[in-house]
Amino acid sequence: MSFENLKLIEPILKALKTEGYTTPTPIQQQAIPIILQHRDLLGCAQTGTGKTAAFAIPTLQLLHQYRQQHKEQKSIKALILTPTRELAIQIDQSFAAYGRHTGLKHTVIFGGVSQNPQVDILRRGVDILTATPGRLIDLMSQGFIKLDQIKILILDEADRMLDMGFVNDVKKVIAKVPAKRQTLFFSATMPKEIQTLADSILTNPEKVEV
Ligand code: AMP
Repeated sequence: MSFENLKLIEPILKALKTEGYTTPTPIQQQAIPIILQHRDLLGCAQTGTGKTAAFAIPTLQLLHQYRQQHKEQKSIKALILTPTRELAIQIDQSFAAYGRHTGLKHTVIFGGVSQNPQVDILRRGVDILTATPGRLIDLMSQGFIKLDQIKILILDEADRMLDMGFVNDVKKVIAKVPAKRQTLFFSATMPKEIQTLADSILTNPEKVEV
């Protein structure tokens, strides 16, 4: 199994070569084809399995295809929610690395720092936004972020987001995202509370466990 077998486009294959990736990890082998078929996904995977690339690579490919079919719009088309600043930065860096030849714009927002530089970047227009829930709600309520053009919503480390008390923030965000969208939901554990949240936001998901 190689990345070529996963029917990835040349700009992404080229970036993966630069990263030195030769073989997709098990979660990538399973998740990438499902996501490329526009299906919802429920992924049970820990950090270290390659799960970030498992959702970032097909998200980049879908948005690259979308952009070829529609005229350029300055709107957020993919939103990744993650519990901590460290994870948010790592995810954004992954989009930067795998998407370096796609021309798609990405940025990251999190709390605990001045919002002004984040707002300046958002004003210039981004396709892919990685966010921690608190800062996202903050900037949404000030009118700096609109989620009505979201095509792909990704929840990363959903169990940790609930443990950290973000459940209401997550629900507020989901209420602002179009119902017609693709949703990818990742959690290291699947207790009942997480399963209930997943059931409420996923449509006929494929399940992947590693
Ligand atoms: P993650 O589980 O997303 O935190 O990824 C763990 C680490 O694996 C990161 O440092 C990635 O850069 C690396 N990684 C992800 N996919 C691959 C791959 N297919 N080949 C080699 N390294 C990878």
